[in-house]
Amino acid sequence: MADWYTNFANSGFGTTITKQLGLPRPVELRRYEPGQPLLPGPVVIGSAGAGRLRDTVTAVLRDAGVTVQSPVTADGATGGEELGAVVLDASGLTGPADLASAHDFLAPAIKRLRASGRVLVLADPPADATTPAQAAARQAVDGLVRSVGKELLDGSTANAVFVPEGAEASLAAPLRFFLSGRSAYVDGQLLTLSAADVPANPDEEKPLAGKVAVVTGAARGIGAEIAKVMARDGAHVVAVDVPAAGDALARVANEIGGTALQLDITAADASQRLVEHLRERRAADGRQGVDVVVHNAGITRDKLLVNMDAARWNTVMAVNLQAQLDITQALLDADGVLRDGARVVCVSSQSGIAGNRGQTNYAASKAGVIGMVRAWAPEFAARGATINAVAPGFIVTEMTAKMPFGTREIGSRINSLQQGGLPVDVAETIAWLSQPASAGVNGQTVRVCGQSMLGA
Ligand code: NAD
Repeated sequence: MADWYTNFANSGFGTTITKQLGLPRPVELRRYEPGQPLLPGPVVIGSAGAGRLRDTVTAVLRDAGVTVQSPVTADGATGGEELGAVVLDASGLTGPADLASAHDFLAPAIKRLRASGRVLVLADPPADATTPAQAAARQAVDGLVRSVGKELLDGSTANAVFVPEGAEASLAAPLRFFLSGRSAYVDGQLLTLSAADVPANPDEEKPLAGKVAVVTGAARGIGAEIAKVMARDGAHVVAVDVPAAGDALARVANEIGGTALQLDITAADASQRLVEHLRERRAADGRQGVDVVVHNAGITRDKLLVNMDAARWNTVMAVNLQAQLDITQALLDADGVLRDGARVVCVSSQSGIAGNRGQTNYAASKAGVIGMVRAWAPEFAARGATINAVAPGFIVTEMTAKMPFGTREIGSRINSLQQGGLPVDVAETIAWLSQPASAGVNGQTVRVCGQSMLGA
């Protein structure tokens, strides 16, 4: 499903015109479909530094049915089969000189990358470095990956995962996500893992099998898509939205065999009602409680700060931030409701990172979400649980369709993939963070923005 410009740019006439005028040439992205192979081509793995992760990566990829190749030489640059992905194991960097081999490996390998290909760099976290030279080399990965993301063409992406010593077992789920079509609109991101007891997903086709997931704001837009993707991945979804959206909410819940719960998340008794619902609603196995909570409901009430009334400020804060805090705290406090290994995913926004004119209330609330998940992560880790945020960029929804043509076109093109994301791109990222195997991703904020120039 591509937008009109992407269709035009890929038509015979459009290709000629866009080439001649130097206009953006977006392509339709490879997105996940159940049953799809992890990658449409082989992976080549190279090393810079000591490279302690190579065996882990090779084992995960072989397990996923991916062909793993040895590093290409300069001679192999233009020969060989087109690659599905290029993985650089840059763990064990001691200083900037080690990065020369990163260049030597990546340059010919990237030339062999097919459309919607993946570049993934693995390294040790800069914050754990013991010498300035080591920290410099590790931090250099940041600039390298972000720049590669901006140079790649044809829907390909570049991301990095920082893997601390002892967190190697946390790598499998992020590796699979970043290489797959689930991460189609996640580009230029740097994720830091933590050590955790990492359970295997029950089934890679149904990673949420047997789980109960609450999704707020599920009647439409991104929330409805999150509910559908969670159900596709095996979860029973409790779809929450305001009573006024009751009909649409019931339609979503019926379509996915879920449960509809009409609830204004800002009501004084909202947390109590949700907890009661989760206690009463017993799964087929007789267990009560919830495994996954997605705080998606959000609103905008835009005005320049100097013209903003208190009502606009307060309602946005109440829905976008305070309700997430209150409900999460209530679930933590309610005995036996938040199940072991729970996953909480909070929807932030690019505006919470970059700021946005006319959105001081919205941006403040969404930045608050990022601070909240970072602060809560240690307490969640102690319970074998995680809490993370996703920050969507320009996502094509009914809301963005109503924008004036010029604003919409500029907003959707100023990213490395030269197009807006789809609600499903946000939903896939949330579903991945919700998986049992994502235990080593905690306190992180993942942007789903196609490497937007805003706030980067
Ligand atoms: P939307 O307006 O289409 O849907 C939001 C849903 O939340 C609605 O169904 C609404 O009824 C529900 N909701 C609002 N207040 C509620 C309350 N008090 N209690 C229960 N439900 C409530 O919005 P969307 O575009 O799908 O956005 C979903 C989330 O993604 C929001 O948090 C939004 O801030 C965030 N986001 C969206 C974009 C984008 O481009 N659309 C970009 C960045 C972030």
